[in-house]
Amino acid sequence: NAKAQGRNCLQFFNQQIQKDAERNAELHLYLKTALSQDEFELYYQPIVNPFSGQIIKAEVLLRWVHDGQFISPDEFIPIAEESGLIVQIGEWVRMQALTTVVALQKRHLAIPLSINVSTIEFWTPDLQQRFLAYFDVIQQKLGLDEFPYSLITLEITESLMMKQQETINQLLTELRHRGMQISVDDFGTGYSSLSYLANFPVDQIKIDKSFIQKISSGPRHKALIEAIVSMSRALDLAIVVEGVETQVELDYIKQQDIEAVQGYYFYKPMPQEAFFDLLAK
Ligand code: C2E
Ligand code: MG
Ligand code: MG
Ligand code: MG
Repeated sequence: NAKAQGRNCLQFFNQQIQKDAERNAELHLYLKTALSQDEFELYYQPIVNPFSGQIIKAEVLLRWVHDGQFISPDEFIPIAEESGLIVQIGEWVRMQALTTVVALQKRHLAIPLSINVSTIEFWTPDLQQRFLAYFDVIQQKLGLDEFPYSLITLEITESLMMKQQETINQLLTELRHRGMQISVDDFGTGYSSLSYLANFPVDQIKIDKSFIQKISSGPRHKALIEAIVSMSRALDLAIVVEGVETQVELDYIKQQDIEAVQGYYFYKPMPQEAFFDLLAK
């Protein structure tokens, strides 16, 4: 009967919640030792000019393999954020990414790299100090006379950002002053996307892949992309469209005269060696 069904349903949900909690606890445990066990690796996904196919820059994407199992960043990044482990993980990512930049410079293949940053990493004034100071750590470790700030874009997504506006604003202003670019990732998905543009100094937006993936399902989605594009132009922001997979999507991007795309149509994220080979070609 209906009552028993309701009870079964509830039981099912309770079991699911329990399972999720166990999985999270387990991942949290493994995550604590992932750095020391050398379980992380960076992948690189080129961002290209849709007209020429030329590689303009690349996004750095973190990969975690634990016990032979690939675990998606969409699953472990939130756990790293909740537990604070994201701070050390983020530092590791930036150290590796800058090591890559320097290696590419030596081969005369340097292109700008776009690095994802969780705003939890500069959530308090102390963390902001640490965030800035870590660039000096990298510079020293890599023995650089000059830090290649202009070859780095920071990609930021986080609605929590709205809570520390004043200090985060100062940090981003400082980073831009040093020559870094700031990009708003997954643009259009957060409830505060427009406030970002009003309140923070940014150079670029990345239109979330959900937009391009819906262009065939009706005129409203196209209208939305076109509105975002014209707004970005009015605000003098660069645009990257994420998630371009098909010829139809690419043709549409070209029609809109958009200058940069990222997606499986051109390249999937790849390990460093393949990335270097690609750039050398
Ligand atoms: P994101 O920053 O929006 O990165 C783009 C995601 O879209 C990547 O997923 C990429 O593999 C995927 N993608 C690229 N082209 C296509 C396409 O044509 N079709 C589809 N379906 N997907 C495409 P990935 O690598 O699984 O990363 C997921 C998210 O995890 C990232 O989204 C980012 O928010 C986060 N993340 C990854 N690496 C880091 C990191 O080093 N630090 C932080 N804080 N977050 C990271
Ligand atoms: Mg990103
Ligand atoms: Mg994105
Ligand atoms: Mg994302």
